[in-house]
Amino acid sequence: MKRYSAFAIAREAVRYHSGWERAWHAPEPKAKYDVIIIGAGGHGLATAYHLGKNYGITNVAILEKGWLGGGNTGRNTTIIRSNYLQDPSAAIYEKSRSLYETMSQDLNYNVMFSPRGVIMLAQTHHEVRGYQRTAHANALQGVTTEFIGPEKVKELVPIINIDGPRYPVLGGLWQAPGGTARHDAVAWGYARACSDMGMDVIQKCEVTAIRREGGKVVGVDTSKGAIDCAKLGIVVAGHSGDVAGMAGFRLPIESVSLQALVSEPIKPCMDVVVMANTVHGYMSQSDKGEMVIGGGTDGYNNYTQRGSFHHIEETVRALIETFPMISRLKMLRQWGGIVDVTGDRSPILSKTPVDGVFINCGWGTGGFKAIPGSGWAMAELIAKGHSPLTEEFSLDRFRAGKFIDESVAAGVAH
Ligand SMILES: Cc1cc2nc3c(=O)[nH]c(=O)nc-3n(C[C@H](O)[C@H](O)[C@H](O)COP(=O)(O)OP(=O)(O)OC[C@H]3O[C@@H](n4cnc5c(N)ncnc54)[C@H](O)[C@@H]3O)c2cc1C
Repeated sequence: MKRYSAFAIAREAVRYHSGWERAWHAPEPKAKYDVIIIGAGGHGLATAYHLGKNYGITNVAILEKGWLGGGNTGRNTTIIRSNYLQDPSAAIYEKSRSLYETMSQDLNYNVMFSPRGVIMLAQTHHEVRGYQRTAHANALQGVTTEFIGPEKVKELVPIINIDGPRYPVLGGLWQAPGGTARHDAVAWGYARACSDMGMDVIQKCEVTAIRREGGKVVGVDTSKGAIDCAKLGIVVAGHSGDVAGMAGFRLPIESVSLQALVSEPIKPCMDVVVMANTVHGYMSQSDKGEMVIGGGTDGYNNYTQRGSFHHIEETVRALIETFPMISRLKMLRQWGGIVDVTGDRSPILSKTPVDGVFINCGWGTGGFKAIPGSGWAMAELIAKGHSPLTEEFSLDRFRAGKFIDESVAAGVAH
């Protein structure tokens, strides 16, 4: 595949852009693959990419029932950070954040990674203590974070009101190397790189059954026919329970819709990402100028991928005390995605009761930031049977009671 470069843009400019190739092929499935990945979201594509790049395994198909990146990967609010509390989380999220730094160069695809900094506001004394604890834990883990006072918050975010009557800003957990990236570009960049390595990214191909013989996976049935495989990765976020059911096992997971919305575009007014867990909302400004706003999950399990009016009202109302200027903004669009939430708010990257079947799910409201690290670790698990980064995130932790409690870090959806 031809490389994207400034030279390529100049070359195509003089020949009326007639020489660009398809970014990825659109093949029909082969009869058999070494590895099939179900789900062409960021995590599935990153897993396939690292199988090829790190282990030379390229006889791989990524099967997607809709269009690639059309699940949560193309629906999130793009926040990237690694300021989690527990050591196993810090390891995988920080690996991921560091891979984002070079992703555009690694994939030869501009994912618009913008390390603009992320603040999690402390608006109660309980939160001050919680975030100070996280900052200490992060210092021990080698993750760059800092607890900052309200004046520093105001300096970083001039539009914020730090003297709110109910919830004044008492400080914040600041991660300067955190930020955002263009979510579609992450999916597209991985898909292009996978296709370039000879892998098949097959869209509109829904997996309807998982075939097993003697406790081992042998293939899948799909809307495009039966396909055999030696190993299978299930990477389907909100549909994890359904697809695990096809392989005959259950997951400790709930599927629930998470919504977000954007305002009309306005002049640049906020160049960091701000999250407010107490009032339950968060906000950043996109390159187009829209304020990107997220709130909490729906209060009941569901599979809807759409927005609802009460969420606009609840989320905007929650944020207005801290950001009075948004009371004058028109909201443009709203949407939802089905997120996969575990009891301890940590992911599952694991072998399963079926030999040859691996599962990657449970990223819930915060898995965009984890895409490259998760792909790196999942590829190692599939290729070698174990990975230091996934060890603590196995399904067994629910049986053994070894939870990785990240309910503070994942308190508000991001
Ligand atoms: C509104 C919203 C805001 C968010 N904000 C953030 C944020 O700011 N930061 C952050 O880190 N995270 C955020 N997240 C979470 C993040 O988007 C997800 O954790 C992450 O994208 C999950 O990626 P994935 O690849 O596992 O899943 P997905 O991108 O959902 O991909 C799974 C794919 O599997 C496919 N699939 C399902 N069943 C089948 C089948 N039977 N056969 C074939 N294909 C199938 C689906 O169509 C889908 O494309 C947010 C999520 C939402 C919804």
